[in-house]
Amino acid sequence: MSNNGSNGVLDSKIPSGSVDRKWEDYKAHINLINPANKRKYSIIIVGTGLAGGAAAATLAELGYHVKVFCYQDSPRRAHSIAAQGGINAAKNYQNDGDSVFRLFYDTVKGGDFRSREANVHRLSEVSAAIIDQCVAQGVPFAREYGGTLSNRSFGGAQVSRTFYARGQTGQQLMLGAYSAMMRQVGLGTVEMIPRTEMLEVVLVDGHAKGIITRDLATGEIQRHAADTVVLATGGYGNAYYLSTNAKGCNVTATYRAYKKGAFFANPCFTQIHPTCIPISGDYQSKLTLMSESLRNDGRVWVPKKVGETRAPGQIPEDERDYYLERKYPSYGNLAPRDISSRSAKEVCDEGRGVGPSGLGVYLDFEDAIQRLGETTIRERYGNLFDIYEKITGDNAYSVPMRIYPAVHYTMGGLWVDYNLMSNIPGLHVIGEANFSDHGANRLGASALMQGLADGYFVLPYTIGVYLADHGKEKVSTDHPEFEKAETETRDRIKKLLSINGSRTVDSFHRELGHLLWDYCGMSRNEKGLQTALEKLPALREEFWSNVRVLGENENLNQSLEKAGRVADFLEFGEIMCHDALDRKESCGAHFREESQTPEGEAQRIDDDYSYVSAWQYTGENSPPKLHKEPLEFDAVKPATRSYK
Ligand SMILES: Cc1cc2nc3c(=O)[nH]c(=O)nc-3n(C[C@H](O)[C@H](O)[C@H](O)COP(=O)(O)OP(=O)(O)OC[C@H]3O[C@@H](n4cnc5c(N)ncnc54)[C@H](O)[C@@H]3O)c2cc1C
Repeated sequence: MSNNGSNGVLDSKIPSGSVDRKWEDYKAHINLINPANKRKYSIIIVGTGLAGGAAAATLAELGYHVKVFCYQDSPRRAHSIAAQGGINAAKNYQNDGDSVFRLFYDTVKGGDFRSREANVHRLSEVSAAIIDQCVAQGVPFAREYGGTLSNRSFGGAQVSRTFYARGQTGQQLMLGAYSAMMRQVGLGTVEMIPRTEMLEVVLVDGHAKGIITRDLATGEIQRHAADTVVLATGGYGNAYYLSTNAKGCNVTATYRAYKKGAFFANPCFTQIHPTCIPISGDYQSKLTLMSESLRNDGRVWVPKKVGETRAPGQIPEDERDYYLERKYPSYGNLAPRDISSRSAKEVCDEGRGVGPSGLGVYLDFEDAIQRLGETTIRERYGNLFDIYEKITGDNAYSVPMRIYPAVHYTMGGLWVDYNLMSNIPGLHVIGEANFSDHGANRLGASALMQGLADGYFVLPYTIGVYLADHGKEKVSTDHPEFEKAETETRDRIKKLLSINGSRTVDSFHRELGHLLWDYCGMSRNEKGLQTALEKLPALREEFWSNVRVLGENENLNQSLEKAGRVADFLEFGEIMCHDALDRKESCGAHFREESQTPEGEAQRIDDDYSYVSAWQYTGENSPPKLHKEPLEFDAVKPATRSYK
């Protein structure tokens, strides 16, 4: 039955029982599909990042037939490869007091009590198994002298639980998931279709039974049918144009599913990461992250004096403001991302920012180098220092890095229930593409954990629940719904190519990015959001009458690819603003200026806003409809989030 929220309450299908027993009990009692029958079912997975790659490998190993798609020329190039700092797990290798409960608690608190307890607890439970699986695959995690796996700390935690492979954790984890998936390709259970973009999800009798794709090299439009569809298509931070995401990251797959009826949850929850290389000019098309792991040893500061002009080395200690250590003494430089980002903005707004634009703060390693020696710092972060030097020309071993917050991750995504299924039956969503586990702010090193948890350990169980009930209803690509979706796709491409206006796709994207950053960025207010909602439809209208998309459909055409994605971002930006406008409280990364404490900290309003917002498409030029999933807390009690 469709979970359409028509009664105003979405059924999240959270199992009963105490939070620490739910997942075990669920696994013990769900309907299983016997191994021989698994071979009768086919699964489409869109995305080969950590979430999609892990799911493809595991589901194929279980016996299902898997068809997997990505738009890059190789699955290994998924954006997950960029992840630097590490992956969390409650192993307590340091014997510093970590536990499943503590990881669960830190994650719920870090998300400012806007995530679902049951999902987060499950995530914490499976975290340890992820590390075991990856080690078994040969992922070269950093090790101590004696051979045990090494850990470091990330924001929002007082224990060291982050496993890492230098500053290339994502790449190494990707190689593990990719190898596992390619093994199945070799065995014939996974069909891998690269350089292909999904442009529509196809619903038959209300169930997701296929997709329409475009071959990015030839322009060929194809139909693919399966018993269920999984979206593992990543996040939408590039709505802001400038972000730390790979240039190709986009919202198209999830947005098109939204237009077919899938609810979009918490679209305004965007993570702004505090440690990125500051913007250097208008020509820039991308921003670069300096991993949060650097805050283990780097100290963040700005000059105390407004308008300071001296070089950092000439500013004496007592004229420096180590503002994170001052404001949040118990977490210091490892205060969570939302809090650190806002603090950086605050000191820059006061005129104490550093660098040519004044939009920067120092991340200083002088103390750490004195304490540990340059060799140790080089071993820990060498590749990050190299990236920094290549981009800025500065050697961060001798002068402090300059950093500033940038868009980095999206906690929002398609709404899913405990089975990771959207409200469209048969449409599963995993990894950054769903909304499920991080509430209003994700803690560092928890995205890789969630993607791999979903792909390796959760979906392989939960997908069987749907298939056991609905897998027998086979459809073929001859079904009229496929015909209809294909026609819609072709018409849209034709339309984009026929406008022949005078503005580039990028110029629209950049303007959209400015609007979202100014009005729906690090801080938001009612007037600004209303202004954005007035300006966005006009920009969208201009796009459809004045964009210039060069080339043709029948060969590689990146301008056409971008145009389709930017068209979706332009519509999606409005939903982000609607969501930000509706949520009059501040929580996590969503800072509504009207809702702050006298000290300028985010002020949650639990009585009114303790819910997941799930937005429904209601038609062109019509505002989306809000459904609410109330959040209930049994194991933790929502409290004012303090890192002081
Ligand atoms: C610079 C950087 C560093 C990070 N470091 C860390 C870290 O240290 N620790 C941590 O936990 N998290 C980190 N993150 C976050 C983390 O990397 C991501 O959240 C995570 O990798 C997302 O994985 P995913 O599998 O959900 O999606 P992705 O890796 O983004 O993969 C998406 C996949 O979907 C495919 N796709 C998308 N749309 C379509 C379509 N329409 N048709 C066909 N295919 C499609 C893509 O081709 C790709 O294969 C970092 C993020 C950034 C930007």
